[in-house]
Amino acid sequence: MSVAAPLTLYNSLSRSLERFEPIYPANVRVYSCGPTVYNYAHIGNLRAYVFTDTLSRVLTWKAKENGWGPLTHVINITDVGHLTSDADAGDDKMEAAARASAKSIWDIAAHYTAAFKQNLKDLNIREPSRWSVATDHIQEMIAFGEKIAAKHCYQLDSGLYFDVSTVPDYGRLAGAQDDVREGRIDAVEGKRHPQDFAIWRASAPGENRQMEWDSPWGRGAPGWHLECSVMSEKYLGSPFDIHTGGIDHREIHHPNEIAQNQAFCDCSDTGARWWMHNNFLVERAGKMSKSSGDFRTLQRLIDAGVHPLAYRLMCLSAHYRSELEFSEESLAAALTRLKRLAITVSQLRDRPPAPSAGSALAYRERLDEAVSDDLNTPKALPVLDELLADKRIAPTDRLAALADFDAVLGLGLADLKREDLRVRPKNATLDEADIAARLAERREARAAKDFALSDAIRDELAAQGVEVMDGDPLGWDWRSTLA
Ligand code: AMP
Ligand code: ZN
Repeated sequence: MSVAAPLTLYNSLSRSLERFEPIYPANVRVYSCGPTVYNYAHIGNLRAYVFTDTLSRVLTWKAKENGWGPLTHVINITDVGHLTSDADAGDDKMEAAARASAKSIWDIAAHYTAAFKQNLKDLNIREPSRWSVATDHIQEMIAFGEKIAAKHCYQLDSGLYFDVSTVPDYGRLAGAQDDVREGRIDAVEGKRHPQDFAIWRASAPGENRQMEWDSPWGRGAPGWHLECSVMSEKYLGSPFDIHTGGIDHREIHHPNEIAQNQAFCDCSDTGARWWMHNNFLVERAGKMSKSSGDFRTLQRLIDAGVHPLAYRLMCLSAHYRSELEFSEESLAAALTRLKRLAITVSQLRDRPPAPSAGSALAYRERLDEAVSDDLNTPKALPVLDELLADKRIAPTDRLAALADFDAVLGLGLADLKREDLRVRPKNATLDEADIAARLAERREARAAKDFALSDAIRDELAAQGVEVMDGDPLGWDWRSTLA
């Protein structure tokens, strides 16, 4: 098998495609900014992890051929420090959530962390090699602050601030365009430059925080950006290969991480060599935002009867650097596409053995070319369709090649059964067994030419959100119309 196409990835630092070569081929190292666990992830957040999973799968799949060792992938869990504005303004998201629900902040973090991990599982996103939790690294964060304080920071009543004029080229990553600089508000009195940011935020007198620690700069909590510099350095060293996040991080969070990294190494190294950013999932109504309260979670899609892998497929149908607009229609189209794939694969599995008049190799190579071109999954998907439909290739050989597509795209088609795809909506009143029983009665009625009874059963099922589908080309005998 040849998966030797050179891997090119878009580096936000240079705003260009660059050939990827790991710094230490024996161990490829990636850090991804993780979720802030004050609420459920919305499906936009999850797009960021479908992207990192694709990256990690491609790096793993191409490793052997390129002589790379195993991938170390770290994702952090932000359970402290992230304010309602990325630029040091507003309330701590975790503290605010705990106050609103009268729960302990630790319970909140545990609950939403578990929900997030379940989302990843549902989307067939592989676990990283390490989860690193911000509050497990407070002492390291303080030590990091102590190392950079004298040369790069200044103290105000509200905490310790990083002076961005002390590092070369601050904000190079953000670039000239500032259209997404949402929330860059200079809300802290006494900052030398609007872009200066908190390394440590001292608790205000009388402020009642559930999470606070002693530090040389007073009792308080770390600034949000600090954790990622500290944990990436601790687990991946510096420099390491790739740092990922959503496109919003290109403007504030990642430039601030870079500034901290440069201060820490006392050099111009940016920490990661590649900075990669996924574009946003948007809705026609505008940006998807967790703080707006009513937002789309993956569980909400599942409760509405949509298999979560349909959402994964929807993400893969767009390039990660393109904005993707969410709509019910496009999700439904992705579900139909997934059903077709699952049916095609199950039919291949049932075929009798046959000799091959062709080779699947060319398909593997086209898969490789597509994903090696900056993870171009929309280009890879039609190759999969063509492979499965290529009658010259024996079914067993097509299925063997499918394993490569599954390894890279993570759709799990080899194991996906068509029954799995029929998720019952949460508000369903009939379960699958009830439906099967009613359909059996209807078949008997039809065999006995009792069309009145057959129609009555069909109408009764329809009233309960089950549409009977006689002669459906995909071979489904019913579908949900609920939710
Ligand atoms: P948060 O939990 O807010 O820290 O965000 C987790 C990840 O989701 C970050 O990498 C964000 O950049 C990313 N993100 C936030 N909103 C969206 C969106 N609408 N589409 C894609 N990624 C997003
Ligand atoms: Zn981060």
